Amino acid sequence: MNNIGFQDTERLVSTAALAEDNDNENSLRPKRLTDYIGQEKLKDNLTVYLQAAKMRGDALDHILLYGPPGLGKTTLAGVIANEMGVNIRVTSGPAIEKPGDLAALLTNLEEGDVLFIDEIHRLSRQVEEVLYPALEDFALDIIIGKGPSAQSIRINLPKFTLIGATTRAGQLSSPLRDRFGVILKLEMYSHEELAKIISRSAGILGIECTEQGAMALAKCSRGTPRVANRLLKRARDFAQVSGEGIIDADIAALALDRMDIDSLGLDALDRTLMRAIITMYSGGPVGLETLAAAIGEEAITLEDVCEPYLMQLGFLSRTPRGRMVTNLAYQHLNIKNPNIADSDVVQQSFDEI
Ligand code: ADP
Repeated sequence: MNNIGFQDTERLVSTAALAEDNDNENSLRPKRLTDYIGQEKLKDNLTVYLQAAKMRGDALDHILLYGPPGLGKTTLAGVIANEMGVNIRVTSGPAIEKPGDLAALLTNLEEGDVLFIDEIHRLSRQVEEVLYPALEDFALDIIIGKGPSAQSIRINLPKFTLIGATTRAGQLSSPLRDRFGVILKLEMYSHEELAKIISRSAGILGIECTEQGAMALAKCSRGTPRVANRLLKRARDFAQVSGEGIIDADIAALALDRMDIDSLGLDALDRTLMRAIITMYSGGPVGLETLAAAIGEEAITLEDVCEPYLMQLGFLSRTPRGRMVTNLAYQHLNIKNPNIADSDVVQQSFDEI
C-alpha cells in the first residue's frame, strides 16, 4: 500500500489559500459587482439589499457569507464595501483573541463601515458575548475594575455592517447566526464561469490564454476561482518553458498532466483518500479521524478541501457512521467494485446506451 501516507502541505488544487496566492491576489480580486463573475442568484438579491440601503441612506444589515474556501467570500465583502462607498476593515476569528481586541476594532470604525471577520466560527465565546450588543444596539458594554467595585459602562458605536465569512455555518452558535439579517450561500462555479474568471485574470496578468486553454484549466479547477487562478499561473510557466508563451489546449493539458491533476481536477491526495477507503475499509463507512490518521493528513484538510468537491462529484458520501465511497469513485479509479456483481455492470452499460 505504497500510496498511503501522502503528505503535501502545498497542494496545487488546494482550495485553501497558499503563500503564492498572495502575489497579485489583490489585483485579481474584482472590485465591483459587475466584475464579480457567477453567483447570479446571490448577486440579484444583494443588488436589491444594496440599493435599498443606499435609498434609505442607511448601513447595510449584517451579512453572513458561507461556503467552501476559495469561492470568493473575502472578495465579495470588498465588493460590497466598494458598492456602498465605505471603508472595510479585514480581520479573522482567530486573530481576535480577547474582548479588548474586538473593542479596539469596533471603536475605530466610522459610520457605515464594513467590518469583515473571516472564519467567524472560530471566535471565542468571550469575544462573541461582546459582539452581541455591538451588532444589535451598536454599543459596547465594558466592565471597569474588579470585584464589588466593578462598574459597567456603555460606549456607543457608529452604525456599521458586520460581514462574517465561514466555511462551516453549522459551527456558528445560534445566537450569533440569528444576529445576521442576511445569510448568503456561495455555490461552486460552473466550467463556463471559471473559464471567464481565468480569461479575466489572464488579461490582468498579461498572460496569453486561448478560449480552449481557459476551458481546459476551468474543467480541473474544482468549481473554485482560487484554484482556477493558481492553475493559470502554473500553466503560464509551462507555456513559457515548453511552448510559445501562449496557454492553448495542448499546453493546458501538458501542465495538468505534469501537475498530476486528472481530467476532473482530482490530485494525488483526493485519489489517495478514495483508494484508502476502498482498500483499507472496503469502501467504508470509516470515521473522518481514522481516515485522516491512515493517510497522514489533517482531518480538517480532508473535510474542508477534499470532501466538498468529491461529494459534489458524487464520489463520496457522508453518513452518520462515517465516510463511504460510491460506485462512481470505483469507476473513476478503475477499480472493480466487489459489492457490484458483473451482471449489474453489464446491465448498467446497457442502460447507458
Ligand atoms: P474565500 O474568501 O471564499 O476563501 P477569496 O475571496 O479569497 O475566497 O477568493 C479567492 C480568489 O478567487 C481571489 O483572488 C479572487 O481573485 C478570485 N475570485 C473569487 N471569486 C471570484 C469571482 N466571482 N470572480 C472573479 N474572481 C473571483
